Amino acid sequence: LRGLELLRNPRYNRGMAFTLEEREQLGLRGLLPPRVLTLKTQMLRIMESLGRCATDLDRYMQLIWLLQRNETLFFRVLIDNITELMPYVYTPTVGEACQRFGHIFKTPRGLFISYEDRGDIRSVLDNWPHQDVRVIVVTDGERILGLGDLGASGAGIPIGKLLLYVACGGIEPERTLPVVLDVGTENLELLNDPLYPGLLRRRVRGPEYDAFVDEFVEAVRDKWGENCLIQWEDFANANAFRILERWRGRHCSFNDDIQGTAAVALGGLLGALRMPGVTNNMAEHTFLFLGAGSAGIGIADLIVLYMVKNGQVSSAEEARKRCWFIDSKGLVYHGRALVTSEKQRYAHEVASSVLAASGEAMDDSSYTPRDNSRGTSDSDGPSKTPQRRIGLADAVRLLKPTALIGVSTIAKAFDADVLSQMAANHERPIVFALSNPTSKSECTAREAYEFTKGKGIFASGSPFEPVRIRTEASSDEQLFVPGQANNVYCFPGCGFGIHLAGAKRFTDEMFIEAAKAVASMVDENDLRHGCVFPPISKIRYVSAHIAVAIANEAIRTGLATRRGSGSNDQFNLADAYALQFDPIY
Ligand code: NAP
Ligand code: MN
Repeated sequence: LRGLELLRNPRYNRGMAFTLEEREQLGLRGLLPPRVLTLKTQMLRIMESLGRCATDLDRYMQLIWLLQRNETLFFRVLIDNITELMPYVYTPTVGEACQRFGHIFKTPRGLFISYEDRGDIRSVLDNWPHQDVRVIVVTDGERILGLGDLGASGAGIPIGKLLLYVACGGIEPERTLPVVLDVGTENLELLNDPLYPGLLRRRVRGPEYDAFVDEFVEAVRDKWGENCLIQWEDFANANAFRILERWRGRHCSFNDDIQGTAAVALGGLLGALRMPGVTNNMAEHTFLFLGAGSAGIGIADLIVLYMVKNGQVSSAEEARKRCWFIDSKGLVYHGRALVTSEKQRYAHEVASSVLAASGEAMDDSSYTPRDNSRGTSDSDGPSKTPQRRIGLADAVRLLKPTALIGVSTIAKAFDADVLSQMAANHERPIVFALSNPTSKSECTAREAYEFTKGKGIFASGSPFEPVRIRTEASSDEQLFVPGQANNVYCFPGCGFGIHLAGAKRFTDEMFIEAAKAVASMVDENDLRHGCVFPPISKIRYVSAHIAVAIANEAIRTGLATRRGSGSNDQFNLADAYALQFDPIY
């Protein structure tokens, strides 16, 4: 590459950082202003121009534009300012970028595989210019963040996630591939928008949909092998669980909304279990989930596996009894009407006498399950169990959970009544309000600390500022730093670990290893301020630790296709750092 062509190639372009000798050799003389700038000075200019932007969406577009000019500079700026810039490259700004995708779309990135390409997906993959793809993030755009069906405009999500794989994990950019499987959209506003970039049709469903997804995975396996990681992202629940189950045993794949979230939440819980005043035996806890969707069920399933693996319970069934759910119809209990199969496993017995005395009579005629294709349990017919709607406050009184986990998208659901009851039940109640964005959070950090009088161990899905409050324990104000249960603590390091070992499958045990690695990165100072996650600024270090843990789990289970440099083929941090992408001229 030479001359203008070189300056237009984002991978090799250095802009004004090309030295005079390089300019001479590469035919660049005259194509650039005479001054030579360092990477540091270029970064200064980028940060300054971001400061001038009027809106966060402008910042997003500036950054994407930089990515399309000079990849090295883009990733250097992102890595060195990760805490500040992550919210523009990823949530919450990426949500807005998706909503306006057709309107701000300048240059395509990744692959759009449409239903019209069925039967021919393999040749679409052949159009991708990079030979050794290791991580694919794919969506069908049906449930983008909390924004619903955005069809092909959901492309911003795989793009954003993969930028974090590179910046936070250390995968080289050309080994990543964002994909949209465009099977149409039910979003009429988009279908009527002249700038909507996707297929103009209602969603493909049923066996045709499944066959299309299957063809995609088969094409990936054929081209890049069974250890090319596929991350399923933002699929609607009805498809997400089925696709995950279909492929997890046959291809290296995982669903971040279900399993990635679970690993991060488990990581936070393991951090909380390190706090003084909290029993560190997981099986002695009772978990109450508000929300029984991908996130809630995923977290509970991993907690259950953790208890089983650690021999803290005699069986998975025994462990599941420690997890209770509340969905949009109230507490999920054995015999309740309209419980889907994923929830059924967590529908525990409540004595009829207790039921009759709790909550209020339930009117099931008003309830239409959001998705019929998932099927409901056989308990929806008339049954002996009294049908009662038991709300959150009643459930907290009834079950006395040690941990309350909000994954409901219901803002302010953890109110003063619920939180003070949690504090009355236990010395150090765990309160995770994971719903995003901030406006959906089940409570704010301040509410969590104030209503529990500083006893609560809090983490949230969206970031909250540190809080100072006066507690019963001391007369001085105390500083609380809420941890953010951001999925970025997990997936970039996991993907990097899979790549490190060339692992053929992504197992649930690997997620437990990732969770343990996250919790081990929380230091005494974090714990003193009530924080159960390490700071985002340490993310590359956290990711390297996760990667080593995952790679060694792959070695242990015979799933690795590469070996580490330690004894018994073990991987160590040096192996990880040697492979970690570090953008520099
Ligand atoms: P989802 O699959 O749509 O599930 C939402 C669940 O909430 C459903 O079970 C729904 O009940 C329940 N729900 C709705 N209204 C309710 C109410 N009034 N009371 C009690 N439950 C109610 O969504 P998801 O993927 O699990 O995500 C849930 C939330 O978690 C989102 O806000 C998301 O942003 C957040 N999240 C955070 C992280 C993180 O912090 N790292 C990761 C993933 C997700 P039905 O089943 O009856 O419809
Ligand atoms: Mn997601």
